[in-house]
Amino acid sequence: MEKKLDIIPLKEWNLFNLFNDKRPFLIAGPCSAESEIQIMETARGLKALGISVFRAGIWKPRTHPNTFEGVGTPGLKWMQRVKNELGMKICTEVASEKHIFDCMKFGVDMVWIGARTTANPFLVQEIADALKDTDIPVLVKNPVNPDIDLWIGALERLNQAGVKKLGVIHRGFSTSEKIPYRNRPDWQIAIELRTRYPELPFFCDPSHMGGAKQYLQEISQTSLDLGLDGLMIETHCDPTCALSDAKQQLTPKELEDLLSKLVVRESDSDSPEYKENIHQLRAKIDVLDDSLLYLLGSRMGISRQIGEYKKTNNIAILQTGRWDELLAKAIEKGESLGLPAKFVSAVFNAIHEASVQVQNDILTGDSPESAGK
Ligand code: PEP
Ligand code: MN
Repeated sequence: MEKKLDIIPLKEWNLFNLFNDKRPFLIAGPCSAESEIQIMETARGLKALGISVFRAGIWKPRTHPNTFEGVGTPGLKWMQRVKNELGMKICTEVASEKHIFDCMKFGVDMVWIGARTTANPFLVQEIADALKDTDIPVLVKNPVNPDIDLWIGALERLNQAGVKKLGVIHRGFSTSEKIPYRNRPDWQIAIELRTRYPELPFFCDPSHMGGAKQYLQEISQTSLDLGLDGLMIETHCDPTCALSDAKQQLTPKELEDLLSKLVVRESDSDSPEYKENIHQLRAKIDVLDDSLLYLLGSRMGISRQIGEYKKTNNIAILQTGRWDELLAKAIEKGESLGLPAKFVSAVFNAIHEASVQVQNDILTGDSPESAGK
């Protein structure tokens, strides 16, 4: 039996203003602190939008050496100025015990653990130990690889060390697939985590997920539609000059536009709660349907490969023994998942029929692959 996490609700963290009194809770600020002027100018722009939580990376985990690796501890002084002069809350990424101690010295209000660090249990444990006896909120980004257990393991380590102001950030997963985004969202993993720990505050980071300005609106909308609590969006007073992640950072004005276009479904009907819930459930169904189609496509690809292989080896398409066995197993498994046998049988027969058709086309030379050869 999975252990529950002991979590303090986001509203009790005393950090966030709500945007227009509704979701999302917002965190914004540059990828990296670069100069005192850049920090103050960006923070002023965000404060004017009513944003209360300011982010900036002080120590930057870069892929290549000899690139900009953050200004380090002196940048915390600039952040402290944001806190003292503008009354904003400040947060940054930590990856070691030393980072935590430095953050404490400079009054950092919240920290997050980056994707590369979440994937490293030694570092997460070191951070968790350093956070014992503090009250500082921690957001844990997903690990770079799509491993929900690694993500949960990090949450457990922190929670066991007494961190109760704990939340997560989905920033997408590294992938070798060619996709338009920089990191692949896996909304199914997000939904799974949300279902297992509904009390866990859940943010999305559209900036690192999208990797370019033009994707931030759609990603932000999807995450709100799935019922996520908040967004972390990289914002820079002059993104064209940014020393890291220049392509994905918005100006405060662009962030204002994005926020004004977000549709937050709420409370103008008889039963807003019902509407919101049904909307979230439908968004989950849409994500699952996409996955189903993707799986069916992958299965068909393998069917095609089998067809080619059978053709090369001169084997008949239909081995009924194997199919009967497969169907019986599917029905049994389906029943254990609450699916009626008739339904499983209909779905699998349809899949089988299409698969046999494809293999038959390959054998008789009607397949798209053999056309024109
Ligand atoms: C960041 O938020 O600046 C960052 C480095 O993000 P990630 O850990 O998601 O790559
Ligand atoms: Mn960044």
